[in-house]
Amino acid sequence: MKIGILALQGDYEKHTGILDELGLDSILVRYPFELIDIEGLIIPGGESTTLTHLMKRMNFYKAMTDFANEKPILGTCAGLIMMAKVVNHHLVKPLGLLDIEVDRNGYGRQIHSFTENLPVQLNNHIEKIPVTFIRAPKITKTGEGVEILAEYHGEICAVKQGKHIGLAFHPELDGVSIFHKSAFIPNSISSNKEKPHAA
Ligand code: GLN
Repeated sequence: MKIGILALQGDYEKHTGILDELGLDSILVRYPFELIDIEGLIIPGGESTTLTHLMKRMNFYKAMTDFANEKPILGTCAGLIMMAKVVNHHLVKPLGLLDIEVDRNGYGRQIHSFTENLPVQLNNHIEKIPVTFIRAPKITKTGEGVEILAEYHGEICAVKQGKHIGLAFHPELDGVSIFHKSAFIPNSISSNKEKPHAA
C-alpha cells in the first residue's frame, strides 16, 4: 500500500521514516495527479499560509477534497489547520475535511515549542505517547461527528472524523506511529482497555 506525503513545504521528509517502520510505501506528492496512485495522504506541518498559497497555485483543492471522500488524510499541525472547516486567518483557505474551528498559533508567542507525554485514545486503545508542539494551533470548537483522541490541559489537540485524523502536534518528530497506523491500517489497533470479567 502506498501513502502520499504532500511535499510542497514543511517537514514532509520525517513522515517517510514512520511509514517505513509500518511497512508502508511512500511517495512525495507535488502535483494533484499523483493522488491517483495512493491509498492515503499526509499533510505535514509547515506554514498554513504558505501551504494555502502553494495548494491554490498547484490546483490541489478540488483534487484533495475528492480524494478525501474516498481515502484517509492525516494532518499534523499546519496540516490540521488545512483540514479544518474554519480558521481564524484571512490568508488560510482550509479544505473543510474536519468539522472543527482552529486558532493558528493558539498557544501564544511565549511558548513556541514544548514536548509533553499525553494519553491518547484510539479504538478503545489507550496509550501514553510523547508529543511535540511547535507554534501549534488550538482547536477551539468541534462539531458533532468529531471524536476527541487527546487533550493537552483541557485543550483538544487530536481529533478523528470518519477516516481522517488531525493533530495539533508532530508525532513524526518523536517516532510516534500510532496515528499513521490508525489512519492507514485502520483495523490494526485493538482495544487494550480492561474488559469486564464474565460472571
Ligand atoms: N504555526 C504554523 C501555521 O500557522 C503551524 C506550525 C507547524 O506546522 N509546526 O501554519
